[in-house]
Amino acid sequence: MCHTSLEKDIGDFSLKVDEGQNCFSGSQLSDNQSTEVPKSKFPIIIYSSRTHSQLKQVIRELKTTNYRPRMGVLGSREQMCIRDDVRQLRGRAQNVACHTLCKRRKCRHHLNVSEFMKNHQDIGNDPFDIEDLVKIGRTKDACPYYISRELHKVVDILFAPYNYLIDPGNRSSLSGISWSNAVLIFDEAHNLDSICADAASFDLPSSYLTACIAEAKECIDLCIEKRALERATDKRHDPETYSILRGVTCYNQN
Ligand code: SF4
Repeated sequence: MCHTSLEKDIGDFSLKVDEGQNCFSGSQLSDNQSTEVPKSKFPIIIYSSRTHSQLKQVIRELKTTNYRPRMGVLGSREQMCIRDDVRQLRGRAQNVACHTLCKRRKCRHHLNVSEFMKNHQDIGNDPFDIEDLVKIGRTKDACPYYISRELHKVVDILFAPYNYLIDPGNRSSLSGISWSNAVLIFDEAHNLDSICADAASFDLPSSYLTACIAEAKECIDLCIEKRALERATDKRHDPETYSILRGVTCYNQN
């Protein structure tokens, strides 16, 4: 993206902050770690792209302009964790390990975030990407992931991959954003269809289908037995009532 189109898309910014009223207590941190950072009174702009390398490019362009909106960038623990043992994990295992350590107050990088936010209230005034944030976190011994989660509540512009906006779980974790007062920009929005389809899809392993078919067959067999034993005329036990179930089992088997 060139400077002029960035200027056109983002417009002018004021970095004035409402010093008195719009402060927050960090919900990601425990109560005794609460921190206060002045919050912008303007609607937040969320610039979303498919990949982090695309976001990195836009941030690189922002660095070369004179615009200095307060900014933040979101990423995953896989990209931001600076604790060696957790860093090696992936996906859910990594998230659970991090949650557990934080809950038990066993990750010093997490414990240092509150102090970091208090002492660096200007963070975000100069543009940075994820790699920059990880370097800052390493230097200051504070978790970059949780710094970014705190920072999202007070920035003018937030850079985030699509999935933070599309996935309901990710979206609801961004508790600092007033969605009714936010400007969303989707870069290369033609990718959105497939990303939305992915977010709304799930894997159905064949073992689940096999188990469903087995249970459905068992239901039909039980009804046949019950009807034979009781010579029941009750329509509820008529195996024919289960013809739909039969159809489903046949369909699944094929
Ligand atoms: S708090 Fe940060 S550094 Fe600590 S385990 Fe979690 S992601 Fe890693």
